[in-house]
Parts: sequence; C-alpha cells; structure tokens
Amino acid sequence: MAQCICRDIPRYESIGSRSSLDYYLDLVYTLAKEGILEITCDMGDNTDYAHIEMFCKKCKRKLMLVCEAYHGAGGFIGSEKYRKSKRPRKTKK
Ligand SMILES: [Zn+2]
Repeated sequence: MAQCICRDIPRYESIGSRSSLDYYLDLVYTLAKEGILEITCDMGDNTDYAHIEMFCKKCKRKLMLVCEAYHGAGGFIGSEKYRKSKRPRKTKK
C-alpha cells in the first residue's frame, strides 16, 4: 500500500512545547486546506485548550490533536489507540 500523505502526522507524538504545538497546528490546518484532512471537531485555539479531531479523507485514518494551548504542554497528536503502546516522554513538573 502506498504511503498516504497524512503520514506527515505521526502515529503518536507527545507535544511538550508551544513551538511544537504551533508546528502541528500549522500542519493540520495546511493539510485540511489542501483537502487531505477533514476536521470533524475543532474547539479552537481561542481557548486555553486545543482540541481537534480529524480524519484523513484518503486512508480514513482517525487523528486527534489535544493539548493545553497556552504552554503547549502535556498534549499529543496522532491516534489515541497508540497512546498506551508508546509512552510520551517525561516532562518536567
Ligand atoms: Zn491518510
């Protein structure tokens, strides 16, 4: 099977900084604009919390981006089902 373009988004990746959150938000919105991703739920960047649910129109892969928006801490992008199989990196508390 050919690799889908949505592979730009990792299976599961923890987000630990505002800059990596910005990077992934940019990626998600760019892919959505290009018609690759369909955003099904977007609670927006106007709150303290980024929460976007989407799927790839081509391969039907379901994806999520969930992150505390202000610090960009404690979030992840990818498929929740991989959450348990790959532990996010430890972050300072
Ligand atoms: Zn895809």
